[in-house]
Amino acid sequence: MTRLKIKAKGIVQGVGFRPFIYKTAHHYKLTGFVKNTSSGVEIEVQGDKVEKFVDFLKEHHPPLAKITEIKVSKIPSVPTENFVILESEEDVQRDVLIPPDIAICEDCYREFNNPENRRFHYPFINCTNCGPRFTIITDIPYDRPFTTMKDFEMCDDCHREYTDPNDRRYHAQPVSCFKCGPQLKLLNNQGNSLEVNPVAFAGEMLLQNKIIAIKGLGGFHLACLADKDQLVLAIRKKKQRGNKPLAVMASLNMIQHITCLREEEQAALTSPSAPIVILKVPPHPLISKELAPGLDSVGFMLPYTPLHLLLFRYVDKPLVMTSANLSHQPIMYKQNSDLLALADYVLTHDRQIHSPCDDSVVKIFNQQPYFFRRSRGYVPQPITLSFTSPKVVLGLGPMLNNTFCMLVGNQAFPSQYLGTTDNLKTVNREQQNIDQFCKMLSVQPHITAVDKHPNFPNRKLADNFPQSKLVEIQHHRAHIASLLAELQEDGPVIGIAMDGTGFGDDRKIWGGEFFMGSLQSLERVGQLKYYFLPTGETAIHQPWRYALSLLHSLYGNGKPTSHFADKFTPQSSSVLDIIKKQNIGVFNSSCGRLFDAVASLLGIGHYSTYRGELPSVLQGAAERVSVDSKLMQKSYNYSISFNDNYLVLDMLPAIGEIIEDKIDVCLKAFYWHFSLAKALLDSSKILREHYHLNKVGLSGGVFQNTLLLEMLLDMFNNNNFEVLIHRQLPPNDSCISLGQAVLAAKAEVRS
Ligand SMILES: [Zn+2]
Ligand SMILES: [Zn+2]
Repeated sequence: MTRLKIKAKGIVQGVGFRPFIYKTAHHYKLTGFVKNTSSGVEIEVQGDKVEKFVDFLKEHHPPLAKITEIKVSKIPSVPTENFVILESEEDVQRDVLIPPDIAICEDCYREFNNPENRRFHYPFINCTNCGPRFTIITDIPYDRPFTTMKDFEMCDDCHREYTDPNDRRYHAQPVSCFKCGPQLKLLNNQGNSLEVNPVAFAGEMLLQNKIIAIKGLGGFHLACLADKDQLVLAIRKKKQRGNKPLAVMASLNMIQHITCLREEEQAALTSPSAPIVILKVPPHPLISKELAPGLDSVGFMLPYTPLHLLLFRYVDKPLVMTSANLSHQPIMYKQNSDLLALADYVLTHDRQIHSPCDDSVVKIFNQQPYFFRRSRGYVPQPITLSFTSPKVVLGLGPMLNNTFCMLVGNQAFPSQYLGTTDNLKTVNREQQNIDQFCKMLSVQPHITAVDKHPNFPNRKLADNFPQSKLVEIQHHRAHIASLLAELQEDGPVIGIAMDGTGFGDDRKIWGGEFFMGSLQSLERVGQLKYYFLPTGETAIHQPWRYALSLLHSLYGNGKPTSHFADKFTPQSSSVLDIIKKQNIGVFNSSCGRLFDAVASLLGIGHYSTYRGELPSVLQGAAERVSVDSKLMQKSYNYSISFNDNYLVLDMLPAIGEIIEDKIDVCLKAFYWHFSLAKALLDSSKILREHYHLNKVGLSGGVFQNTLLLEMLLDMFNNNNFEVLIHRQLPPNDSCISLGQAVLAAKAEVRS
């Protein structure tokens, strides 16, 4: 009789792995046991069909499980009679992976809607395949006492399900019911609990044009009717959010009714991660035009918790569902005065959120989800690397779209989205989450990688790890490195980082860079030409300032400069003085700033209330053009110089032509995109020739622009380039922390 010991690592706890093993072992008539350990799951099986069992295991697993390693060894057989599930044990090594939070599954959905079921309309229904995980786990191993469900003692019925290996709630840690689970509450904005049916009342108040804060998986949302301009504007004002788009929650039926939903978009919406999916939306009476000013698309998500489903039984209309936070600050997840100030009422409950987590955002590009934000439903799943780092590395991430990343062995764990670390609240939230990751992974960083920018507030978090070595990584190298790392690409490649702004090696502001190399080293081999960004940071919020600077570079004091200067604002003369003297400001090569300036010159807008606002509107304008091959025969001029092995791409000629061209704004916007794509292709051809490299990698916030990306991919494909784009992380600054961590890890191996 053969006996095998099998050790499985990965996401194998809290996902129904042990009952799955239990059933499989019974199927093959094996004896032995399965148990959770702090490093995963350990199985011993004995019988005639142990090999078949192992083969089956390699091919099959429960839907939410993710096996990263499986080790099998032969051990002496012992007399055993049956197969059992043993209790969890504490172990020294603690590298079991924690699953992300998962939207309500089909089985639970069926029970939720079944009047005969004891969990009919139960707002916290969940099972081994769905429900909260990452957000409620306080420590590992993943077991009820180490979750925020420890406060709720199971009733007899729940306990029976929890302990029956044949039940689909076997060891589902958040299992509960009406009798024993969390309780809903409805508060007014004084924080007083009202004696009402909380969900029915919240629904009624929503229909009466109130704003309700609703506790979700990873924090509070602010909700209101999505068709009321005044309410949408009120939420914007409360959140100090400018024009930044707000997400909508609606049933699949409603979404199909409002948008032309494509198959892949529906697949993303209904996936277990249930992200926000950005969809094209024609004008519709149920969708306020104030949700996404100037844009043709809106982010939609499905009701992904049973509480949301219950709410939609009372409100049969799309709802704004936006993270409760103030602009730049982290999502609120506790009931406090800050939260009460944002809403008329609060629909809440007493299951604590331990790790706050925003919704994820994707857009379908090339039939696949393309991340704009990777958070709830995905975090803390790791990204597997092509190399193993002997040191634990923490990448602290940049200032905008911040995430951090913990690199352990051959796995990198990017954190949830944290927001903008230009304020103490977000920096503190980052530290809180780093502590949680250290605990979950049982590690302390040996190396802390930070952005090269000397004044980023989150740099000081490195001081909390005094034993850890500090390494500075340049922003755009981190972009390209994150791309290579997530694709397990060894390089060398031509890396193109088209981005907002990042601090450069030469202390200038970079943001349109060409690199050559691999994770070993990334050499800057080209750039967009530097132009003067007058008045620094202010110019980022007031794109007309950079537009004026570009005009001055084109025409000096000539007529177009003064003509536009008067159009921008009466106060532009003082900025023009600064541009002439070049006394306040910085030289920069940012591609994002060029988009800003073009939008301003086209009269699309001169002020920006959130990063990427004008470029998004510019993209929208370009997408209104119906494309034919005749259209593609024209493009604006640009110049490329290649001297001393260094490439400089100058888009200024194109900007001059945009100003002088006599076609409509949408066409100009289209040709700007098309010309930039052509310019990047031509630049890549020169670098390909010189370095004998055929592989191009694209990263940076500008590549959230899927129109530019699509044009570029077409051109690269037609010219036999191999192109790499992000698939697991966003191209924006949320990917920086991974790049920082891998570059610091590689540098350590070399030193
Ligand atoms: Zn379920
Ligand atoms: Zn119960």
